[in-house]
Amino acid sequence: DGVLLSEVRRPCRVMLLVNPQSGKGQALALYNGPVQRMLHEAGVPHTLFITERKNHARELVREADLSQWDALVIISGDGLLYEVVNGLLEREDWEQAIHTPLGILPGGSGNALAASIHHYSGGPLVSSEELLVSCGFILCKGLVSRMDLTSVHLGSGQRLFSFLSLAWGFVADVDVESEKYRHVGAARFTVGTLVRLASLRVYRGRLSYLPADDDGDTGAERGAIPTGGGDHTFRNTCSSNNGLNTKRRETPSLYGPADSLLPPADGPVPGDWAVVPEEDFVLMLAMYQSCLAEDLLGAPNAALDQGVIHLMYVKAGISRASLLKLFLAMEKGTHLATGCPHLVYRRVRALRLEPYAAKGLITVDGEAVEYGPVQAQVHRGLARMITG
Ligand code: ADP
Ligand code: MG
Repeated sequence: DGVLLSEVRRPCRVMLLVNPQSGKGQALALYNGPVQRMLHEAGVPHTLFITERKNHARELVREADLSQWDALVIISGDGLLYEVVNGLLEREDWEQAIHTPLGILPGGSGNALAASIHHYSGGPLVSSEELLVSCGFILCKGLVSRMDLTSVHLGSGQRLFSFLSLAWGFVADVDVESEKYRHVGAARFTVGTLVRLASLRVYRGRLSYLPADDDGDTGAERGAIPTGGGDHTFRNTCSSNNGLNTKRRETPSLYGPADSLLPPADGPVPGDWAVVPEEDFVLMLAMYQSCLAEDLLGAPNAALDQGVIHLMYVKAGISRASLLKLFLAMEKGTHLATGCPHLVYRRVRALRLEPYAAKGLITVDGEAVEYGPVQAQVHRGLARMITG
């Protein structure tokens, strides 16, 4: 394809990470088929790394000599990119490391970021196969944009980074419970939602947040990184990583940006925060990209680097029928406009959740994390993502 090749300044080197266990277990077959073909045609040299276990990618990225790579690309679901992002921020040279362009090719059952990036490029929501082709083109084009990351503090004091979502209650339960339906692919969330609806319950806790001031901070600001007139594809950005040595160390949370918006975890929230009056919820969902799944436009107004957390919660008392209606409306992204009195939507910069029960589920980017009180704040444009 002439248009794609015209962007190539020199061969770029891609570290391509594949999780053979993601989704229906087809990620490696996708690589051997359409992905390899696309990368070959676009002239993108790459080295394949097949993960052998959970956190393998995280370790590889934490230890990698990043001067060797122009981009880190995953073929999997959101979980593998979550490992890559956290691996980069566990490095001593995190400030340069997190500027490494990242790419995603949907090969899992939860491909929400891939769906979001496809959505930002202007396309309607599509099936898994079409999504892979769309993301393949986006990758070969190689345009790099800033992407928000949210830093999440857990009860134990551990900190981790999130690019997609923080969920508690109904959505977190579906995230985790639906893992056993991974073999049906993206439909696992539909199945999981129906199963959970049958045993709908209430989750108790206190939710507080720092509202975004919303001074014209719209999606229009989203765009490629200005590079002073130069090329801004990932093919010649590798100079930002100059081979700094990285050492292992004991406490991962030492690295990464300071969370200036968050109060001490054991103290009260500051006066400019809002505390939600209700304590009985069906779900809390914080999103920073538009798609919750391939077919769910959970935060229709989200964009790649707004510096905004789209916080939604559903108060207890909602009927099963109304909740189902909300999820059906989410397929078109119209749930916020349905006038559902139980659904609240806020644009925030930071939040705190204190669940009352000792046991339960909280997910970050679809991955279960330690349960307990959490605080989070958004860091605008901290990461670099290959987008259309
Ligand atoms: P899916 O969309 O199907 O959930 P993910 O990319 O989210 O796919 O991966 C699912 C989980 O598998 C994640 O928790 C990830 O960390 C983990 N993982 C990565 N590589 C492997 C592997 N080789 N074997 C088992 N689990 C892995
Ligand atoms: Mg997953």
